[in-house]
Amino acid sequence: MWSEILSTAWRARPPAASFGPSPRTPGVSAMAQCEVCGNDYDKTMEITVAGARHVFDSFECAIHAIAPRCEHCGCVVIGHGVEADGRFFCCAHCASKEGHGELRDRTGPQVA
Ligand SMILES: [Zn+2]
Ligand SMILES: [Zn+2]
Repeated sequence: MWSEILSTAWRARPPAASFGPSPRTPGVSAMAQCEVCGNDYDKTMEITVAGARHVFDSFECAIHAIAPRCEHCGCVVIGHGVEADGRFFCCAHCASKEGHGELRDRTGPQVA
């Protein structure tokens, strides 16, 4: 589930290692290239999804590459979303439009 991926796999670099004077050579060992836009950046983030490691320079690029899209309205699912039969939807409304009226948004106090 996407929300579980978010909570377990989004591992940005520790910010303390990226700022201020460093005894290490700055900008060399930490440089990495965004796999979406190709930007060489010293504060890239690594995200592991289903065992596959990805490197991005921004959340925008990460979302572009790995966030699921709602199968009804086509928007990028960057929140909790809902899942039915392996298909992602941005919300229960979209899921119901595709025949999954049993789903409920997993937000708020109604979560079991
Ligand atoms: Zn990028
Ligand atoms: Zn939708």
